[in-house]
Amino acid sequence: MKEIITDLDKIKYLGQKNENENLEFRSILKSKDYKEIDKIVHRLYKTISEKIDCTKCGNCCKEQCSTITNKEIERLSNYLNISTNDFEKQYIKIDEAGDKIFAHYPCKFLKDNQCEVYELRPKTCKSYPHLHKNEFTSRLFGVVNNYSICPIVYNVYEALKDEVKVDNIGLCGYFDDNGNEINMDLIKKPGICSICKKDNNQEEEILCNLNRFDQRNDSEFKCFAFEKL
Ligand code: SF4
Ligand code: SF4
Repeated sequence: MKEIITDLDKIKYLGQKNENENLEFRSILKSKDYKEIDKIVHRLYKTISEKIDCTKCGNCCKEQCSTITNKEIERLSNYLNISTNDFEKQYIKIDEAGDKIFAHYPCKFLKDNQCEVYELRPKTCKSYPHLHKNEFTSRLFGVVNNYSICPIVYNVYEALKDEVKVDNIGLCGYFDDNGNEINMDLIKKPGICSICKKDNNQEEEILCNLNRFDQRNDSEFKCFAFEKL
């Protein structure tokens, strides 16, 4: 196994540097038996998470906002002795998907890298970085995103590259969730791409293609990476 890296600046830098490779690897993983990949990921997660001390990191609480349910809001409001309305005003906002999430990052409950409401923290906090769950290959955009935030995800994804013995990164195609190769020539390019700076930029090509494929049947194409020409 490669040397374990926990330096957060280095991981952030490698997340940007390896973005295209990571998206290509995502495409390769999609072509594999998801149950086999789950077995490998669960084993790697166990080995690697034992070597990384979350209390010295806390980066997930600093770099992203967890979702929270109404029940969890109620529990935390009771604990803090304030009304749920006041709690929502102070701590919560609604994200683009309409879910309630913590409004601030670093999270306001993080003090000296420790969660002040640890026993009552939301389920999404408990579950992070979600590598114990099944169907890893159905959540790969999230994994690639977390690769630059979480040392556990970074090291698991890198070790997975070795285990899956990828020697054809750069030559692979695109694969759907059933492992069938996608012919990108048959996927219609949305009109908005023609006025986007990133269209036909080789560095953006993989992300653009995967985005177009994932939304191929949607009535409206949405792209958060859009930059007007
Ligand atoms: S509630 Fe606790 S575990 Fe969740 S993001 Fe905030 S500090 Fe982190
Ligand atoms: S789960 Fe990842 S990002 Fe969060 S504290 Fe642990 S190593 Fe750091």
